[in-house]
Amino acid sequence: MKKGSLSINSENIFPVIKKWLYSDHDIFVRELISNGCDAVTKLKKLSLMGEFDEPDEPYRIDVITNSEDKTIQFIDNGIGMSAEEVEKYINQIAFSGAEAFLEQYKDKATEEQIIGHFGLGFYSAFMVADKVTIETKSYKDDEDAVYWECEDGLSFQMKKSVKSDRGTIITLYLNEDSYEFSNEYRIKEVIEKYCSFMPVEIYYTNANAPVEDPKKATIDSTATEDDKTDTLKKKSDTDDGDFKEVDDDAKANAPKPLNDTTPLWSKHPNDCTDEEYKEFYHKVFHDYKEPLFWIHLNMDYPFNLKGILYFPKINTQYDNLEGTIKLYNNQVFVADNIKEVIPEFLMLLKGTIDCPDLPLNVSRSALQNDGFVKKISDYITKKVADKLSGMYKVRKEDYEKYWDDINPFIKFGCLKDEKFLDKMKDYCIYKNLEGKYLTLPEYLEAGKEKYENKVFYVTDELAQSQYINMFKEEGIDALIMTQTIDSPFITLLEQKNENVHFYRIDADLTDNFVSDELSEETAKEYTDKLTELFKKALDTDNLTVKVEALKNENTSSMLTLSEESRRMQEMMKMYGMAGMGMDPNMFGGQGETLVLNSNNSLVKYVLENPDSENTPTICCQLYDLAVIANRPLSADAMTKFIARSNEILSILAK
Ligand code: ADP
Ligand code: MG
Repeated sequence: MKKGSLSINSENIFPVIKKWLYSDHDIFVRELISNGCDAVTKLKKLSLMGEFDEPDEPYRIDVITNSEDKTIQFIDNGIGMSAEEVEKYINQIAFSGAEAFLEQYKDKATEEQIIGHFGLGFYSAFMVADKVTIETKSYKDDEDAVYWECEDGLSFQMKKSVKSDRGTIITLYLNEDSYEFSNEYRIKEVIEKYCSFMPVEIYYTNANAPVEDPKKATIDSTATEDDKTDTLKKKSDTDDGDFKEVDDDAKANAPKPLNDTTPLWSKHPNDCTDEEYKEFYHKVFHDYKEPLFWIHLNMDYPFNLKGILYFPKINTQYDNLEGTIKLYNNQVFVADNIKEVIPEFLMLLKGTIDCPDLPLNVSRSALQNDGFVKKISDYITKKVADKLSGMYKVRKEDYEKYWDDINPFIKFGCLKDEKFLDKMKDYCIYKNLEGKYLTLPEYLEAGKEKYENKVFYVTDELAQSQYINMFKEEGIDALIMTQTIDSPFITLLEQKNENVHFYRIDADLTDNFVSDELSEETAKEYTDKLTELFKKALDTDNLTVKVEALKNENTSSMLTLSEESRRMQEMMKMYGMAGMGMDPNMFGGQGETLVLNSNNSLVKYVLENPDSENTPTICCQLYDLAVIANRPLSADAMTKFIARSNEILSILAK
């Protein structure tokens, strides 16, 4: 028997491991199972090189929990270790340079950085266990099996073991705080999180579960009628029915691995069907909706990267725009949404990315400021832009069909990433008043005579319907831009297209709506007159009136909102000026103009009968109607509006 103390400054390291990994100490499951996978992979390589004969029994990893003994075991039939190897790889942790590193960075580096720089995979077991044992036998027949035990993470014992078959058994005696991991559901949950796609089959056994009746496996007395007919059918289908049936049943009852060893992303895109892509999506993201489409990334050079990115169907009303990109390193789950690798805007998608070349171990921070990581991120961005622009060019109908769902994503990408903007700017499309999709240049070209370099847009089709109708009557087009992201996106478009300006549809009336009957003089006279009358009727000083001779004489009154002050108000709201003690409505009313149509009979009546007792009522009603067509009335104004409307109707009924 050999005893010793671990050669690295363990007193320093173990508190660090425990502390650092505190938040996700379930990570030991990933580390120990991936070590098992590594052990199998190494053996496979040896057999490829002809140094080891492929065994008859399949490679596998077993996880066994015992909630009475509070233990977990990780068992693999991989390469195993000789005594010498245990000494080298387990006892001398310093082998990976940790000691030198610690010495060098003692004061400077954060704990997280320290851990990230060397593999502490195996030792993560001590986060949850007081005692850990290893039983291992090397694939080399002449090596003795080894038993290793470490009680406190500091000193170990080593001796020969009786283990006769190749591979390694790691047993964890859980500490009091970690008993949860001997629970079947908890451990399965963790395995699913980290190991769903590991390359070696993983099987779970609950050591406390009652042993199943062995007869039950072949004769299932609880089978339903349906099951029975099914079996009968199978029987008659084949000549050697009896034999086949048992064979099938045995298969059906054979334990299933918890993981999928060949995830879809690892296959060649040509070998994957739409059904498989959808099924994979449902399974991995637990999203019952169909994805819109997907991109299969498959790259070998200059780095290795595989993955599938899905564009989810978004119900903007209910869903928040938040996707998940799962990052894997050789089929071992690393983490969700790692911002160093995945551009922020891509996190609106759902997908898996596997990059075996990633310079990362257990720590995520080791990724920062790595030029290679930036290349990966740029590559992914480029692929996504290529896919989208390709679809625009070749399958425009599909592109338009998806646009409503994918446009927030594309706009966000343009705002966040200059390169993405460059690639996508010609493929941003906008729905117009007829429901057709146009690019910005197409819209500008169509309106070149009527509204040069002006872009009118609708943010709320219902609330702005009065304006929309007016625009339609005059044959002037506008773009529907109803998403929250449209407001910053419009600012971006204005920055990138210097002469182009955006106006919300209620911002101003262009000359297109106005007939030229009204002379400047008369207009001024009317405006003065009506301003006074309306101010008096509404009992306010704060009102801007403008009289226009609108072509459509049925329009009596409407509000316009100066684009500039409206944007200013929206910005203040967004940046929460209100919370800083400033009133976001301090410009309230400012920029708002009451437009009165001198061609409308009601406006004419007011102009001609300033002293009539009906005039104040008409003024108030005209003002409220203009407001209603633009935004909801305040509670107080609404009460008055209803009362006044009743009054007016009762005159009709007389
Ligand atoms: P890493 O996996 O990054 O090398 P670990 O601390 O996880 O670091 O493991 C240290 C070493 O111990 C491994 O490189 C391997 O040589 C050995 N080892 C650990 N677990 C096993 C196992 N199940 N089978 C064979 N060797 C193992
Ligand atoms: Mg490891």
